[in-house]
Amino acid sequence: MNAESAAPGSQSSLRERNRFRVLDALTRLGALTQIEIAEQTGLSPATVSNVVKELGSAGVVELTPSVRNGRRAVSVSLATPDGILGAIVFGDRDVRAAVAGTPDRVVASSRMPLPAEHAADEGLERGATLLFDLVERSGHSPRELVAVGLGVPAPIDTVSGQIGAAGILPGWRGIEIADAAAAALKTPVLLDNTANLATLGEMNSGALQGISDAVHVKMSYGVGAGLVVNGQLVRGSAGTAGEIGHISIDDKGAVCRCGNRGCLDTVVGSAAILEALRPSHGVLTLRDVISKALAGEPGCRRVLADAGESLGLALSAVVNLLNPEVISIGGQMARLGPLLIDPVRRAIERRALPSAASSVFVRAGDLGEESDVVGALVLAREVQDNAQRAALAVT
Ligand SMILES: [Zn+2]
Repeated sequence: MNAESAAPGSQSSLRERNRFRVLDALTRLGALTQIEIAEQTGLSPATVSNVVKELGSAGVVELTPSVRNGRRAVSVSLATPDGILGAIVFGDRDVRAAVAGTPDRVVASSRMPLPAEHAADEGLERGATLLFDLVERSGHSPRELVAVGLGVPAPIDTVSGQIGAAGILPGWRGIEIADAAAAALKTPVLLDNTANLATLGEMNSGALQGISDAVHVKMSYGVGAGLVVNGQLVRGSAGTAGEIGHISIDDKGAVCRCGNRGCLDTVVGSAAILEALRPSHGVLTLRDVISKALAGEPGCRRVLADAGESLGLALSAVVNLLNPEVISIGGQMARLGPLLIDPVRRAIERRALPSAASSVFVRAGDLGEESDVVGALVLAREVQDNAQRAALAVT
């Protein structure tokens, strides 16, 4: 069936939907010919031609001559008039990359798994391959990359440029990460930890837009936070501000990979959650636990509610210190919604100063697991902005 005849609604909403279909195909698949767009979207070649013409004159897409299967063709791609921005973000189990015109306009993204104990050079090589593939797929050349924002899930010492805790990401120890990445990518690289990047993402286009005092918690396999004071992300004197995962909440607790005892991470990190469930539920992954909890499984719900309460305990100290207006929670665990957020809120109400507790709004982030990728693009945009300012200064 032809997608056009199936779509109900007025003429203008139909055009809107057709435009969305074309943009969605370009975002997912990169540069395409008009025939390929027609195949992908189910729209007729004539409709595709009209939509592409409209988007082209609005400056949203670019048309470049290319060759497909030995024949001359015109390839259509999302427009990036000021060059392209790259993001490479390492998680505890994967690496993700994205290419964008602006942080809000990602033109292509993908991810690949990565072993937890990988070495830095292996990780950087995979990240670079992933990014260059995306650059090519989206119809660009690596020369157009203005800058790359790079994220690692570990505290970064901004003085040394290295991981700021010996036991975290051991394969990256002693490496000056931004320099190594810039050499591999042949483009400027801006580095930050993924919790700060997630915060920048939510500040740019998510739950923290326009909020001057806030905390964003990234909760996946481990937990970290970004602190926003007076509208600025606070990195501290050596770059490790916001490391709530390593606040000690139990001085007799388990030894943490940072060397301390009873860190929040040893109580609410995925290792602790999976370990608590192992005797009764067997071997599960974090994704299993989240899905089971969402489906109502009582043991998984219980363990996650306890984790929420412990997170709230650590956050109540942060609330007393910073008096934030909003605490947003992102990362994989944010999929739990009220199952996680309600216990966090209750713990803060019980433990923080009443006036600070009553003025803070605890909520899920808007960008989910993509917030750190958006944040990496926001960092990369700083280079683009500086280049534009420099160009204005000489003209
Ligand atoms: Zn620790």
